Amino acid sequence: MPVELSTSNGERLTASSAERLTRNEQAHPERRRAYWRKYWHSLPLEQRRRRARQKTATQTPEQREAKRVASRKWRQRQGAEYRQRHAQQARAYYRAHPYSSLSEETKARLRAANRRWKDRHGAEYRERHNQKQQERYRANPEKYRQLAKKYRLALPLEERQRRARQNKLITKYGIRPEWYEEKLKEQGNACAICREPFISNGQRRVAEIDHKKGTKKVRGLLCHSCNWAIYKIDQDPAWAQRAMAYLRAFA
Ligand SMILES: [Zn+2]
Repeated sequence: MPVELSTSNGERLTASSAERLTRNEQAHPERRRAYWRKYWHSLPLEQRRRRARQKTATQTPEQREAKRVASRKWRQRQGAEYRQRHAQQARAYYRAHPYSSLSEETKARLRAANRRWKDRHGAEYRERHNQKQQERYRANPEKYRQLAKKYRLALPLEERQRRARQNKLITKYGIRPEWYEEKLKEQGNACAICREPFISNGQRRVAEIDHKKGTKKVRGLLCHSCNWAIYKIDQDPAWAQRAMAYLRAFA
């Protein structure tokens, strides 16, 4: 790439003045760097990207890794002010180029890069993140309980009820919410004993989960009255016989 050299007032450089410039640059390395930085940023973005890609393509993986580490260390040395400025620039950039405005090609490239990162670091990242979060929670449990409560209360009532029901299924009966839905379908949306269909929109006859008292062993879905009767028989098997005898005595 031939570089058109000129002085700051626009004169073309002759060979000897170019030599002088080189000498000056060597005497003032920071000026030299500033000059190259200025030149570099005067190039079109596409060209800069192509050159950067060419450069990384010729590096070995070790060289690339070393470069990444050096770059990270450099960033860490820059302090809070740099981080703030950088974050501000990044925010401005993403506001000006939202994801939805990107081309399909760019989106696909970003997705692939994300996937590569996740494959390499995802598990390790989650592990570290969870650990940190647990430490934060242990240090101040009350704060997180309040946050969770605030979050819960902000949910629509229906969603809160749905979650409460799900939690009850899991903690009381040890079943997944899918079990309930599958069983309901299996029983044709009706009580397993009296075959009365469940009416779910009314206040009463909703499907109740029949389970062996004191255990998490679930059996099936029953209406309220059948569940009550089964409960009585479960508690005292002779109850059913006495009840039948009682009915017969008045037949
Ligand atoms: Zn029933």
